[in-house]
Amino acid sequence: MIIGSRIHFFRQTASTMDECRSLARTGSIEGTVVSANFQGAGRGRFQRLWLSPSGENIQVSILLRPTITQLPYLNMAAALAASNTAREITGHHSEIKWPNDVQLAGKKLCGILIESEISGVEVDFAIIGIGLNVNLEPGRHEEIKNSASSLKQFCGRTVSRSQTFRILLKHLDYYYERIKAGESLTSEWASKLNMLGCNIQISFPGTNKPTINCKADSLNEDGSLSVRIDDGSMFTATAGEVTLRS
Ligand code: ATP
Repeated sequence: MIIGSRIHFFRQTASTMDECRSLARTGSIEGTVVSANFQGAGRGRFQRLWLSPSGENIQVSILLRPTITQLPYLNMAAALAASNTAREITGHHSEIKWPNDVQLAGKKLCGILIESEISGVEVDFAIIGIGLNVNLEPGRHEEIKNSASSLKQFCGRTVSRSQTFRILLKHLDYYYERIKAGESLTSEWASKLNMLGCNIQISFPGTNKPTINCKADSLNEDGSLSVRIDDGSMFTATAGEVTLRS
């Protein structure tokens, strides 16, 4: 088992990503895990705020030292691990919204953030950040009441965070071992994606790139999404925010 060889648990921290990055820069070993009961400045992509009341959910960052060719699979490993964890605990199948949201019944259960530091073609380290809603009650939070889900909602009871944590690390370790063995996770990941063939819109927050109206065509080995733009041309998206068009 690589993941969980060391576990640092904080009652409270600003960000498990920042704690994990400091550990990475000072030589901590691959598989080091940082988790917290509460993080004051949890963030998602594009510096968006991640909402997680103290003690309700799991926020965890995992330090890895993959090769550059293994890097694209980390996002897939995280999404598959969260999805399998949700199935093991709730019995429900979840879906993945490209590129990195895990959804239960169309609502976001888990956010994933991958950060890495690279020198030339060498990956110094990569960090997987996972925010998984365990006992969150979305109805109590105006900002996410219609868009978020939690394990508790699907179990109808309070869910053990420590058990969920162990299950999540177990699944993540399984997928990371496969990545290390040179396997691709793309087809398994793609089989859980929920928008292929749909009319979508892709926007690029934080950039001045224009929004694209298109149809999600296919996934590529590295997880990028090939789309057919409404004018008939093809485009490959490596990042962005996708919404369904009616
Ligand atoms: P999306 O594609 O869902 O708009 P994203 O992938 O760009 O989000 P993330 O980094 O995964 O963004 O998460 C940040 C967004 O998720 C916030 O803008 C907010 O809308 C939503 N959010 C924040 N906290 C939670 C939570 N606990 N559960 C579900 N959604 C949340």
